Amino acid sequence: MSGRAVLPAPQPQFSLRPAAIAQRPGCRSLPSTTARAPRLVDVNRGVRCEATKEQQQPKAPVTGPTPAAPGKNGASPAAKNGASPAQASQQQQEKGPTYPDRPLTELDLMALRGRDKHRPHQLEWPQKSSWIEIAWDQFKDSAEDIGRHLNRAVKELPSTKALDKLVKGGGKDGQGLRLQSEKPVVLLLGAGWGAHSIMKVIDTDTYEVVCVSPRNYFLFTPMLPSTAVGTVEFRSLLEPVRTANPFVDYLEANCDRIDLENKVAYCTSKNAYLDGRRPKFEVPYDILVVAVGEQPATFGTPGVKEHCFFMKEIPDSVGLRQRIQQQFELAALPGTAEEDLEQVLHFVVVGGGPTGVEFAGTLSDFLREDLKKKYPELMKHVRVTLLNSAQTILNQFDSKMQQHALDNFKRVGVEVRTGVRVTEVTKDTIMLKNGEQLKYGVCVWSAGNAPRPLVQQLAEQIPEQAQFQPGGKPSKLAVDPFLRVVGARDMIAIGDCSLMVGDRLPATAQVAGQQGAYVAHMVNRGYLPLLGGLDQPPPCKPVDAAALATDNVGTMGSTLEDGEGEGAALLYYKKPFQFLNLGMLAYVGDDRALTEIMLPFTKIKLSGQFAYLVWKSVYITKQVSFRNRVLILFDWLKAQVFGRDLSNF
Ligand SMILES: Cc1cc2nc3c(=O)[nH]c(=O)nc-3n(C[C@H](O)[C@H](O)[C@H](O)COP(=O)(O)OP(=O)(O)OC[C@H]3O[C@@H](n4cnc5c(N)ncnc54)[C@H](O)[C@@H]3O)c2cc1C
Repeated sequence: MSGRAVLPAPQPQFSLRPAAIAQRPGCRSLPSTTARAPRLVDVNRGVRCEATKEQQQPKAPVTGPTPAAPGKNGASPAAKNGASPAQASQQQQEKGPTYPDRPLTELDLMALRGRDKHRPHQLEWPQKSSWIEIAWDQFKDSAEDIGRHLNRAVKELPSTKALDKLVKGGGKDGQGLRLQSEKPVVLLLGAGWGAHSIMKVIDTDTYEVVCVSPRNYFLFTPMLPSTAVGTVEFRSLLEPVRTANPFVDYLEANCDRIDLENKVAYCTSKNAYLDGRRPKFEVPYDILVVAVGEQPATFGTPGVKEHCFFMKEIPDSVGLRQRIQQQFELAALPGTAEEDLEQVLHFVVVGGGPTGVEFAGTLSDFLREDLKKKYPELMKHVRVTLLNSAQTILNQFDSKMQQHALDNFKRVGVEVRTGVRVTEVTKDTIMLKNGEQLKYGVCVWSAGNAPRPLVQQLAEQIPEQAQFQPGGKPSKLAVDPFLRVVGARDMIAIGDCSLMVGDRLPATAQVAGQQGAYVAHMVNRGYLPLLGGLDQPPPCKPVDAAALATDNVGTMGSTLEDGEGEGAALLYYKKPFQFLNLGMLAYVGDDRALTEIMLPFTKIKLSGQFAYLVWKSVYITKQVSFRNRVLILFDWLKAQVFGRDLSNF
């Protein structure tokens, strides 16, 4: 035992209201009585943590605020004795920490943990678990969720919904709308892979979970290209937020900015009244989860926004499906000049990543299987071109798999051009860097992603984020291994808009979904994120001493207790996020796919028609509801038997 010292009157100012903390099993707020002063004790019994080399030496260590435990009047006793800072520090280490004789604030608590010999942030991160260990851990978490799902299925919906909770009191004049809640508020920004996965399992009995997103549904993005040609219907890939979890309050709006100091999100409705007014409102939060994803990147290429289709959201796909059909009807009109036919029926895809490749493959299926039968005379004019600035396509896969994709495209008539850069797009021409000009009818731009304005704003607002932004340009929110935004308090970022320091993860649905589930479990267990950063203690929760013995997560570092078992303790979360890589899939057209499936000790690489069967099986099982599964199976059957629908409306 070390680092013992007497603590006077601890009254930590946690962001979760004490009443709310007390509601959680095994948790209660720290006592404010001075009758028996709690002491710092080491409860790190038997917890052995080792770090990988990378974790021990983060690529860019955070130099976030490390508040010193203040002595009286802010100066340490050693310093007051006239000792040099180095001597003071040595004396301090020998004597152990000192504590202020006033109610403790949250900052004090952090400082105390920082001064304790067993400070949690000096503990090495747990060793990276094996694939099996991570899988087993995730399996246990999922088993825990079953009870929550069953409970939700039989429970009555609350009578007060988000609208009732919006009360006057927001804005500078106090006349704006502000969300009011009895329970601690967990605010989710976004309704994509990350946020949806939180919604599915978060404990809505304990927390007021509010989702703010301009999109009131979850979208199964991997199959979005299939909707652009009618293999699958749009609505088959969606799950409305209100269906995903009816106990979550949904508000259709954009979050414009965050007041980090007061923990308030400022939002503007996506929809307007007839006179053009857009309601604005504020959501004060206890925990904020930023899961706003990214938006398509144009890299400043002129004309892309105006003339290209993106492949990101449902409206993109709706517009594209309509445009493909229109091009064929236009070309089918009598007297169309040869030159116009060549242009109108030239489909160009920019981007050789999985999205561009899948769309090119899907489009070629549509042309060969359906349009060829209805417009046979036009087929000799149809061209599909895939442009990529890199020298190869699908660079996530190995060269053999890439070659398989290229061979397949050759067979189905998709022209692949690598090493070409688009410099401008006009209404009818694509300009290439080598001076070439391509006439086109439809151009689909899927060349990468760029940050959302909210993320850029947050990354600029938080000084500690600067060192993680490539080229100094704000792009993603750097998060620590607990997914807390470095330098921000009670803020978590997941999915495409985040960047895990020391362990760069791919921007995929797989990562976002697993991160969402991880955050939900951490919050359900009552842990408070507090300040994010590699030099900060892990998330913790105040518990009574009895709960220490029963907590299934365990402890890390120091805890506060009153010596006779009656006081409060701080329990640290010892489970950083670990990604379970399940593999990769890509459809390349003509009922062929590439798959790389991860197994405990090996990975299986497949290409061709069998891989396509695997692709189909994985996507059908990965659907987020039984309803979606049935709808997609019907869509596939419909397309097989009757062909894809060619109606244009
Ligand atoms: C066509 C396509 C195919 C893909 N295929 C695959 C695949 O096969 N496998 C794979 O693993 N990944 C795939 N991905 C990538 C995957 O979709 C993303 O990695 C994943 O969606 C990231 O999840 P997210 O929660 O971070 O963001 P998203 O899912 O993008 O969700 C972001 C949410 O935030 C909302 N939002 C935006 N701005 C605001 C704001 N200001 N305030 C509040 N809310 C806001 C949006 O409306 C949206 O609901 C594909 C992506 C696309 C586009």
